[in-house]
Amino acid sequence: MPLGSGVMKGLKTMLMVTGRKPATVLYPEQVRDISYRFRGQVGMRRDEVTGGMTCVGCGLCETACPNDVIRVDTSENADGTRFVDRYLFDVGRCVFCYFCIEACPVDALQRTHDFHLITDDRRGLLIDGQKMIEIYESDQANREAEQKNIGPGEAIANWFERG
Ligand code: SF4
Ligand code: SF4
Repeated sequence: MPLGSGVMKGLKTMLMVTGRKPATVLYPEQVRDISYRFRGQVGMRRDEVTGGMTCVGCGLCETACPNDVIRVDTSENADGTRFVDRYLFDVGRCVFCYFCIEACPVDALQRTHDFHLITDDRRGLLIDGQKMIEIYESDQANREAEQKNIGPGEAIANWFERG
């Protein structure tokens, strides 16, 4: 290899990338566009009648989860019907496979694009059903702006129609 060829290569690369738009952004002040199929934090739908969790406490999500993320504690009313005492979700253990969402028979669990999971204390990653409702509703409010950024000329339906 001729003497100085490495320097020339370096200079050539530098000239090629100079003026190129940076691939990084100043998070959290700026956030990059998110793919429509991005898998974010699991959210919870609010029950339209009670205003609380849509969850009926069947425990199927808890069983379907491969990583022991979810815990559902339930009790029985006097008439034998079940109610949810506590729904806990450890975000720090979640691998975003969405098996829980697929398992839920009442569509209580919902996908979101929320990835703002930063914390300096892992205990902050243990959230309850009410927090999951807030995450879902906040994500829904952001979707309109996001949908303008799903890619050149792509309608949302096209994402699902792909094989
Ligand atoms: S997305 Fe996967 S890992 Fe996360 S809670 Fe649901 S089933 Fe468990
Ligand atoms: S599968 Fe759905 S309804 Fe059943 S416990 Fe989980 S979130 Fe609740």
